[in-house]
Amino acid sequence: MKYPFLESYLINAPYSKEIEDALLRVARSGRYVGGPEVEAFEKELAEFTGTEFAVGVSNGLDALRLIFMAYIELGKLRPGDEVIVPANTYIASVLAITSAGLVPVPVEPDRRTLNMDTSLVEKAITPRTRAILTVHLYGRPCWDEVLAEVASKYNLIVVEDNAQAIGAQASFPGLNGGSMTGALGHAAAFSFYPTKNLGAMGDAGAVTTSDAALAKAVRALANYGSDRRYHNIYKGYNCRLDPVQAAVLRVKLPHIDKVSKRRREIASLYNKLIVNELVAKPLIDNPDGAVWHQYVVLVEDRDSFRNYLTDNGVGSDVHYAVPPHRQPCYPEISDLSLPVTDYLAERVVSLPVAEYLTDDMVTEIAHIINGYSK
Ligand SMILES: *Cc1c(COP(=O)(O)O)cnc(C)c1O
Repeated sequence: MKYPFLESYLINAPYSKEIEDALLRVARSGRYVGGPEVEAFEKELAEFTGTEFAVGVSNGLDALRLIFMAYIELGKLRPGDEVIVPANTYIASVLAITSAGLVPVPVEPDRRTLNMDTSLVEKAITPRTRAILTVHLYGRPCWDEVLAEVASKYNLIVVEDNAQAIGAQASFPGLNGGSMTGALGHAAAFSFYPTKNLGAMGDAGAVTTSDAALAKAVRALANYGSDRRYHNIYKGYNCRLDPVQAAVLRVKLPHIDKVSKRRREIASLYNKLIVNELVAKPLIDNPDGAVWHQYVVLVEDRDSFRNYLTDNGVGSDVHYAVPPHRQPCYPEISDLSLPVTDYLAERVVSLPVAEYLTDDMVTEIAHIINGYSK
C-alpha cells in the first residue's frame, strides 16, 4: 500500500529521539505509578486547554465514565437520569453513560457537519434529562449558541467527549468563556489512544474541568476512591495515567498546534482538489476550528469505492459502520428511528489525513479519487 490509512510510527518519527529520552528518564526514575511526569503533564494539559484542572487517567472511556460517576458521587446526577448524546458517535460515548447507570438519549446528526444536530436537542429533553454529552466527532467542535442556551435554560451538565478534538476551537464561547474544546462545558474527556491527534504509546486519557470538586472526585475515584492514603471516600477504581505515557505525551503536547495546522491544510487541499460527483466532501465551516482527526467523505457505493482505493494503493477506514443503536449490546435503543445516522453509517469513508502527508501525496490521493467511477 503506497498510502496506508495511518502509520503511528510515522506520526512519532519527528520526536523519536525526545521520546526515547523520555522513556529512559522514566525507566531510570524508579517512579512507575504517578509521580512528577504525571503531575507535570496534568499541569501542561490544563494550561493548554485553559481549564483549572486536568486529571490524567487510563484511557478515554475511563475518562468519560469517571466524569459521570463523579457527578453521581457528588449528588449532581442519579442513576436513571437521562443523558443526551449524539446518535452518530463512537460506541465509547454511550458505554460511558450506561456503565454509570445513566440512560442514553441519542440525537440525530446534522447532515452537513455529521455532528449532533443541536437544533434537535431541546426536543429530546424530558423531565429526567440532566446532562448532555457533546462529542466533537472527527475533530470538529460540536458547540454553538443553541447548545449553550439549551444547557443553561434546563440547567444541564455539559460533558465533552474530546477524544478526537484536542486543540480544536469552537466559534462560540463555552460556559466558562473559553473557546477551546475541553474547556467548553463543565468537564471533558480526552483520549490519547495511539491513533488520536495526541497519541501515547499505549492507552492513556485525561479529564479536564474548572470545577474543583469534580476534579477531586475524579482523581479519588481513579485511585481506589481514596482521597488520601488508606482513606477511601468512594468505592473507587484503578484508572490512573501511567507515567511512561505521561512522559511521551509531554514530548508531543507542545507540537499539537502544528499538528492541527497541518491537518487543516491537508483537509483544505483535499476539499480543493477532490472533484468527483460520487464523492461528497466534508464541510469546512470554521477553517481555524476543526482539527481533522478524520477527513470523512460520503460515497453511495462504499465497498466499490474502498476497493478502488485499495487497488490504487490508498488506505481508508470507516468511522463507524455500525452506530451504537445498532449494536447487539444496546437492545434498549435499537427501536429508535435514527435514519440520518443509519444513512451516514452506510456511506462514511475516512481518507488518510495524518500530518506526515506531503502536499504531493495529498494531490496524488485526490487525483486517484477523481478517477473513481461506477
Ligand atoms: C477513542 C474514543 C473514545 C475512547 O477513548 P479510548 O482511549 O480508546 O478509551 C471515546 N470517544 C470517542 C469519540 C473516541 O474517538
